[in-house]
Amino acid sequence: MNVAVFSTCPYDRIHLDAANASGLHSFTWIEQRLSLSTAPLARDHEAVCTFVNDPLDSSVLSALATGGTRLLALRCAGYNQVDLPAAASLGLTVTNVPAYSPHAVAEHALALLLTLNRNTHLAHDRIRRGDFRLDGLQGFDLHGKTAGLVGTGRIGTITGKILQGFGCHVLAFDPYASPESRAAGFEFTGRNDLLARSDIVSLHCPLLPATKHLINTETLALLKPTALLINTSRGGLIDTTAAIDAIETNRLRGLGLDVYEHEAALFFEDHTDTGITDPLFARLIAHPRVVVTGHQAFLTYEALDNIASSVLASLDAFASGHTPAHKL
Ligand code: NAD
Repeated sequence: MNVAVFSTCPYDRIHLDAANASGLHSFTWIEQRLSLSTAPLARDHEAVCTFVNDPLDSSVLSALATGGTRLLALRCAGYNQVDLPAAASLGLTVTNVPAYSPHAVAEHALALLLTLNRNTHLAHDRIRRGDFRLDGLQGFDLHGKTAGLVGTGRIGTITGKILQGFGCHVLAFDPYASPESRAAGFEFTGRNDLLARSDIVSLHCPLLPATKHLINTETLALLKPTALLINTSRGGLIDTTAAIDAIETNRLRGLGLDVYEHEAALFFEDHTDTGITDPLFARLIAHPRVVVTGHQAFLTYEALDNIASSVLASLDAFASGHTPAHKL
């Protein structure tokens, strides 16, 4: 099949080409994001492959369907960016990659937590300037602390097990908790109790209408002022303005983010020539107790291999007339 790959990065080409070693499919590499104006680049491509910030709303889907596209193979787990009912009504099949490496994301949540807690980002900056003083770099022992997981699916459960390894008592909230997460030794409790008792809160639930701004002025008020909040899930789970207000007024100790609610206009691209033009994001990263990475929690060699194999499996199944295993 001809496959138009939007938002292509160099690592996507390497891993997708390796998975397509048989040459069964022909890729068109498109660095631009998918939008109404770039959708015509996919004309005569039976399949389109997209990433997290390629919006698949009804107008884009309709433009793709008009151009001959039949399959949308997402190379990510989340699909909040896809209008699935519109895709169904246009006869488009949509697939995702549900579990390419939950370890990659869980381990990155810990990377953010450890950086934030032990101030390694500030220490590195100081040492580069020749300043070896330690004042202001204190953290706390994770051992003996209480960590709260909001969402105990694949990633949340692994994050909780790693935190248990550090000696944390793990609280969990998930209205649809799986038997595996129930068996992991976490203490399941209500959301507000979790927020009030945790020294560390890590978000691992999907972005849904019910979870948008789950962390807002009211729920931030429940947190301990010494708590660290980590989000590797989706930016829209946090009301960013409320969170930065809490940081600036010492009602929250630290914020570790791999995702940002307005990230679509910023992430995955080089803005060094214009600088950061989003004032809320500029305010966020100016604060020493905020650590941000640009949606890279998934970015391990193992995860990229798994993503490429899963996308190829969807393309192969569709091309041979079968229903892909990860059809949404
Ligand atoms: P999953 O589907 O395995 O788990 C999600 C869990 O959230 C489920 O157990 C579900 O019951 C629970 N949940 C649903 N509604 C909830 C609510 N209102 N409150 C609490 N829990 C709720 O998903 P996963 O693979 O563990 O992924 C978790 C999140 O991580 C997703 O949002 C995904 O988009 C995100 N993610 C981010 C990256 C990254 O690079 N930063 C990579 C992969 C996934």
